[in-house]
Amino acid sequence: MSDVLPSKKFLQLIEVLFDVSATVVREFANCKVIRLPEYSNSFIKFLDLNKHKLYHKWENDTPCCHCNNFKNLPHEMTSTKFYMLYQKISDRPIECIKRKGVVMKNGCIKQYCICNIIPQQMITLDDMDISMLAFLLRNSNLTESQVKCIDNLTELRNILCHARSTFSFPDVKLENVKTRLLYYTRKLARMSIRNIIHQ
Ligand SMILES: [Zn+2]
Ligand SMILES: [Zn+2]
Repeated sequence: MSDVLPSKKFLQLIEVLFDVSATVVREFANCKVIRLPEYSNSFIKFLDLNKHKLYHKWENDTPCCHCNNFKNLPHEMTSTKFYMLYQKISDRPIECIKRKGVVMKNGCIKQYCICNIIPQQMITLDDMDISMLAFLLRNSNLTESQVKCIDNLTELRNILCHARSTFSFPDVKLENVKTRLLYYTRKLARMSIRNIIHQ
């Protein structure tokens, strides 16, 4: 590999990241989360049942009609990211299934109604990139070692995707990223396979 140009090595890693690691993370998400009985093997059902939780990852300082004891939460999601997963069925308020609706005070919204928000209807796991998959998985019930593995892959994804050019990394750094990328990708693949074998 020593006579391969650094930019070629970098592009090979990008290929591994997008074509192999992302596929492994998707398969892991499918095995460990989407196939749980409550989601009936449906990513849309997963989004539907997690709508309230994910809504407050974005709208973190105002309660909604689904809240019981609202507490301010960390802001972890942009509206762009949220609306990659969900859509509004109407811009106007619709009948609130919780019968609480929107609450306004002095012209400010004190409570939102999320009943007019539904999952994107054509969305599948294949539409999700590593960072979105990692975000959704971190909000699922995974073990500490599973989360650690996902976090490491996200970190490597960020290192590669935030590079300023294809030849900006020294050889030693490329080798380090390659070793870690392959290690965590294989580790996650083994975790998925174990799950399939035990079904
Ligand atoms: Zn709420
Ligand atoms: Zn509502």
